[in-house]
Amino acid sequence: MSERAYLDWNATAPLRPEARAAMLAALDLAGNASSVHAEGRAARQLIEAARAQVATLVGAEAKNITFTGGATEANMLALTPSLEAGGRKAPRDRLFVSAIEHPSVRGGGRFAADQVEELPVTGDGVLDLAALEQRIATAERPLVSVMLANNETGVIQPIRAIADVVHAANGLLHVDAVQAVGRIDCRMDDLGADLLSLSSHKLGGPQGAGALVRRADVHIAEPLIRGGGQERGIRAGTENVAGIAGFGAAAVAAVAKRETDAARMAALRDRLEAEIAHATPQAVIFGQGAARLPNTTLVGLAGIKAETAIISFDLNGVAVSSGSACSSGKVQASHVLAAMGMRPDLARGAVRISLGWSTTERDLDNVLRAWIRVVSSLLKERANEGLAA
Ligand code: PMP
Repeated sequence: MSERAYLDWNATAPLRPEARAAMLAALDLAGNASSVHAEGRAARQLIEAARAQVATLVGAEAKNITFTGGATEANMLALTPSLEAGGRKAPRDRLFVSAIEHPSVRGGGRFAADQVEELPVTGDGVLDLAALEQRIATAERPLVSVMLANNETGVIQPIRAIADVVHAANGLLHVDAVQAVGRIDCRMDDLGADLLSLSSHKLGGPQGAGALVRRADVHIAEPLIRGGGQERGIRAGTENVAGIAGFGAAAVAAVAKRETDAARMAALRDRLEAEIAHATPQAVIFGQGAARLPNTTLVGLAGIKAETAIISFDLNGVAVSSGSACSSGKVQASHVLAAMGMRPDLARGAVRISLGWSTTERDLDNVLRAWIRVVSSLLKERANEGLAA
């Protein structure tokens, strides 16, 4: 196969070698982690080592980490009226989610539809703090869910300020940190989050593993999956030992190299954006006025269709993605760009380029070469259609 450039790290990151090695070692163990014999204890040991490794990633205590089958499940587990804080048994009466959340949060988790409200964002994709303050005042015990960094734009939310507003209103704050962890600092206490969702595969671990991190005094009275009492009764089912071990190893690698990787990615991203702006001055980089992840560029070009552009990029050896969510073959406009008030023609032409720790200057050369080729041919096609019409 000819050379490919993989620039879709926000969809999933390639497996880190450290995670692969940990998984292979775990696959050779025979035991069930709930068994008392030596084989069972060996499996248990791997899980507990990974729990400590993931805890270090977010500055939490290992005992407050629940392993799940990914961040979608962690979000569903967290978003429940049955959250109790400080030993008080009263259920959460309302859920507030930002308008740019991942579908696994926007769906409202285990709240009834009429208990869920959406919070607006600014044109740069940052939560409107004044609206948050005003809206949560209508609830007695609100739960608020705001992501740390957006998967489409990379825009980072002011979580500390949000936490202060939420706590002053007797609320709890859940943070989906899936895209941020391993790229920016994500210490639970600095953020002020009460609950934090993580996904293994965005940081170079395997797909199908994740975690929900809780503040020590936050209790989930209604588990999502009931059964054999694993994960302290919060998440039943025999543990995915290899997946969890790979997640832990990826967490260690992500922590060790985070600052150097982030600086390198930011330099590459800056070059990418400068060259795109030079080649196509009419292109818009979404969220450019806000703080963003070092690895994400969402660029919009009026007159092109992102879904067509993605296929052309693929044929040119480059894997990128669109700002539109494509489900069951139907392309829908991005809810993130709609919430930011972006023009539909610009949002339709939104292409996301996301980098990772192994992205090279050569990958960038390839994506920039493809950008010029793909964009000029799509714009030419459109001009011809215009002439024919
Ligand atoms: N939240 C965000 C912000 C995401 O980007 C994703 C993955 N696309 C998820 C949640 C879901 O994670 P998982 O794939 O582990 O279920």
